[in-house]
Parts: sequence; C-alpha cells; structure tokens
Amino acid sequence: MVAKRLDGKVCAAQVESELVERISKCGSLGITPHLAVVIVGDDPASHVYVGSKVRACERLGIKSTHIELPADATEQQVREIIESLNQQNDLHGILVQSPLPSHMDEESLTDMIEPSKDVDGFHPQNLGRLVQGRLDGMLPCTPSGVMRMLSWAGVDTEGKTAVVLGRSRIVGMPQSLLLGAKGVDSTVTVAHSRTKDTRKLCSNADIVIAAVGIPEMVKPDWIKEGAVVVDVGINRVDDSSRERGWRLAGDVHPDVAQKAGWLSPVPGGVGPMTIAMLMENTVRAAELSVSEEEHS
Ligand code: NDP
Repeated sequence: MVAKRLDGKVCAAQVESELVERISKCGSLGITPHLAVVIVGDDPASHVYVGSKVRACERLGIKSTHIELPADATEQQVREIIESLNQQNDLHGILVQSPLPSHMDEESLTDMIEPSKDVDGFHPQNLGRLVQGRLDGMLPCTPSGVMRMLSWAGVDTEGKTAVVLGRSRIVGMPQSLLLGAKGVDSTVTVAHSRTKDTRKLCSNADIVIAAVGIPEMVKPDWIKEGAVVVDVGINRVDDSSRERGWRLAGDVHPDVAQKAGWLSPVPGGVGPMTIAMLMENTVRAAELSVSEEEHS
C-alpha cells in the first residue's frame, strides 16, 4: 500500500479561500481583522514561522502588526506590550511566538492575553472550554488544523482507536481532547516519554498523531496496514548532501508511506494547516468583536 497524501497545502488553501468571503463581510461592516505577533529574540526557526504568518495575513487582507524585541528584553516589557494590545479595540488577535527566552515565564505571559484575542488558543479559559467539550472557543491551531485535515480527507473517526504521541499543552493534550470529543468519537490513548511499549500501542491504532519532536521516530513496523498517520513533528536534521547542511524531518519515518492509508508530509502537512487555523481564529475573533459591539 502507498499512503494517500494528507496534503496540508491543498487543505489550507481551501480554508483560506473560505475565509475570503468572511473577511470581505467584516470589511463591509467597517472591520479589518487585525493580528499582532510578538517575537522576542533571534531564534531563526521562530522568525521563519512569524514570516509565514505575516505573509498569510498579507495574502488574505488581514492587517498584521509585527513587534520584535531583542533576546535581552525583560519580561516586564513583554507584559506592557500585551497589556497595551489587550486595550486596542481595532486589534482582534494576539500571538506571542514560542519559545520565549528562558528568563521569561511563557505561561504567565500567555495567561495575560485577553481570552477573546487569544488566537493561539493557549489561555486557560480557552483550553478549559475545550476540556469541558465546548468546541466553540478559540481552539489551538495545530491540533484543530489536524482535525480539519482529517475531515477534509473524509477520515472516519467514530469509534476508531487513536494514539497521540506527546502530551504538550500546545499540541498533544488538546489533540487528544479533540479526537475524543463528542461528534469525533475516537477512543484515545496519550503516549509520552514514560510510556511503555509505544510501538505496540501504535501498531493497534487506526489513527496515529505524532507530536514528539524526535526525527523519524515512528517506523513502518509501528503502524497497522491502512492506518491514518499525521506527522506534526518539525525537526532540523543534519544533511551534508544539502547546500544549507540540514533538512526538515518529521517525527514519522518516510517509509511509513508504504504501510499507512493516509500520511501527512513534512513539510507541507500540518505546518500550513497551523497557519490557516490561525487566520481562521483571527477572522473569528474579528467577527465576534462585531457581535459584541452590537450587544453593548
Ligand atoms: P514538546 O517538547 O512540548 O512535547 C513533546 C512531547 O513528546 C512531550 O509530551 C514528551 O513527553 C513526548 N515525548 C518525548 N519523547 C517521547 C517518546 N519517546 N515517546 C512518546 N512521547 C514522547 O513539543 P511540542 O508538542 O511543542 O511539539 C512536538 C513536535 O511538533 C515538535 O517537533 C515541534 O517542532 C512540532 N510542532 C509542529 C507544529 C506545526 O505547525 N507543524 C506546531 C507545533 C509544534 P513528556 O511530556 O513526558 O516530556
């Protein structure tokens, strides 16, 4: 079997094309969706991600404000910026690019973002709603992008066994909640660094989502014939055959394509979906700001 491609680029383009009309409707109400991205330090990968987000905003006609601080900026400076962005009425989404320098408390800074502007979906109020099974809040972009891609491919999730590799606040844990939510109805196992015999767990699963950060960890003999495999991992690995000396690798070995029914590529899988869902959250935040105004 050769896996069908869970093509994040195609699916993300569809999400974006659906946003065009919503953005134009906002425009007719005098609102331009507006996203602020705060980045601290000079981590090259983070700058690449922020660049992609800003370009997606430009493509769609979403206004973006890009705030850059040096690596030695203080946490207080970031706090003041978030406070001021929270107050700005014409701004609908705030994103603080992770990772922040180690002298900053990332969680407490995320907690400061006004939940209605938390387009990353990491605020406890938004994650808490997800735990309650309320899927109408701001959902974290990467796991909700995975769900959108599964639905785009027509993957049946009801009653299926799913294994999520990783339990981070950003990907693994919300991913497992979304897969187990009412209406999605998979039976989910979450694996982490202390899990015993992860290979065996995966080999019984209908759906495997890998979000670990270990290059090509998931091998073909981990995967049941025909299973759906989503590779969230983005890892830089040395590759002397490339001019730049490295390449991107996922958490799933490419040979898994010989076994799986569906497989998402890296790059071109979950990455573009994460950005598309960020755009969708920003548009949604703008729409909600209009209905709030109407009710005030
Ligand atoms: P974290 O480092 O926060 O979490 C990694 C998780 O993997 C942890 O829960 C850890 O367990 C678990 N883990 C580590 N080793 C194993 C193992 N041997 N078996 C099973 N689980 C293990 O990473 P993130 O969740 O932030 O990101 C995961 C990957 O996804 C990274 O490659 C990242 O670059 C990528 N990513 C991609 C995005 C995209 O848009 N495509 C967006 C965000 C992330 P424990 O909790 O016990 O430590």
